[in-house]
Amino acid sequence: MAMKIHGKTVEEWQKDFPLLRDIMDLKPVFWVNHMRPRMADIPSLPLSLDDMLAAAKLFERFQPFFKKVFPETKETNGMIESPLTEIPNMKTRLEKERNAAINGRLYIKQDNALPVTGSIKARGGFFEVLHYAEQLALNAGLITRNDHYEKFAEPDMKKFFSRFTIGVGSTGNLGLSIGTMAAVLGFNVNVYMSRDAKEWKKELLRKKGANVFEFDGDFSEAIDEGRKKTEADPKGYFVDDEKSKYLFLGYSVAALRLKEQFKQENIPVDEDHPLFVYLPCGVGGSPGGITFGLKQLFGDHVHCFLVEPTHSPAVLLGMLTELGSKVSVQDFGIDNRTEADGLAVGRPSAFASGFIQKLASGVYTIEDEELFPLLAMLKDEEGIFVEPSATAGLPGPFRLQETRYTEDDGLMGKMDQATHLVWSTGGSLVPDEDRKTFYQRGLKK
Ligand SMILES: *Cc1c(COP(=O)(O)O)cnc(C)c1O
Repeated sequence: MAMKIHGKTVEEWQKDFPLLRDIMDLKPVFWVNHMRPRMADIPSLPLSLDDMLAAAKLFERFQPFFKKVFPETKETNGMIESPLTEIPNMKTRLEKERNAAINGRLYIKQDNALPVTGSIKARGGFFEVLHYAEQLALNAGLITRNDHYEKFAEPDMKKFFSRFTIGVGSTGNLGLSIGTMAAVLGFNVNVYMSRDAKEWKKELLRKKGANVFEFDGDFSEAIDEGRKKTEADPKGYFVDDEKSKYLFLGYSVAALRLKEQFKQENIPVDEDHPLFVYLPCGVGGSPGGITFGLKQLFGDHVHCFLVEPTHSPAVLLGMLTELGSKVSVQDFGIDNRTEADGLAVGRPSAFASGFIQKLASGVYTIEDEELFPLLAMLKDEEGIFVEPSATAGLPGPFRLQETRYTEDDGLMGKMDQATHLVWSTGGSLVPDEDRKTFYQRGLKK
């Protein structure tokens, strides 16, 4: 009898979803989520706009603390936020390389330059640690919500938090953000890393005072091990990338900030000015949280697309089969081997999946080899360095043209007024040596 995957043979799956053939053959694909409802028809989600506003408030309460312990945030008054940058030279270069036009304007959201840890994980990761720390301090009567949160930098607080342990499983960037924030607050931190995590990330974490444990297997195994070890500790708290609501909420706050930036730059998003956003995707937490936030604020006028490596199409498989986090790329014989840090994920987040299924407009996949030339081009044309995974959204506007999305959505006449936003997810902490290697690799064809 043929082997079954979640109750069906491969042939049956491929018959139901013809795109699976190309996905299993590791070909770049574009999947449009035709099942997505219009915003008005979405009955209710496990989170609301109010939850997102409350999350933003928490970040605000901690601004004095950030200013105190991370001097690089003085300029932004303790706000962890990144620039929104138009990239017209990159647009021209891409158009030339691809011999096609991008209708509308091209922007990059520079989370590669987020203060302190230089990746999108600062949003979700910091939020979850701060939320936990605040909860502990409130419950212990050490603070009230109206206090000045510089208090969190005091030695007594550190001593209090040193009785607790925070654990996290990570390919690198999440560990860096959780580890940095938890260590600064005084927690014990254990970071469980997969073998493919970069050495410099492990070293940096150790320097910050985190304990780093390495595993031979992939990301899911690092998470499983971390979860087990942390939950065995009565004073342990595990940041669970495969199901965390708090990471998701932290990411969603980006939408509120972005709306503000659009206003400042006079970039309209409305019926006549559609917004297209291209988000590199691992477990789906960061792109899911941001998509959730943007859909709350811009409704049907924003169109969010997730991007995964051809070797790690975890969220794509979850959505296509509607199995969500029950499916892994390995179930379909895909190896989850990619050089895109943060995207080397075999199984989607259970929490994010429900949102993505309803809110995302689609997913496309990209080959590793495409990331490096994009990295070199962005450096040459705009002077912006990002890590390989952070380039995945750049071909988005062209890839969208492979589909009938804009026709089907009645957007054809509006594309000249469209805004394309590529979410750059990391980069500023990458050491010079690695930068050079990535760049050189991008110059070779
Ligand atoms: C983690 C990460 C992502 C994806 O975020 P998920 O929440 O895992 O989907 C994208 N880019 C970089 C650089 C990351 O570190």
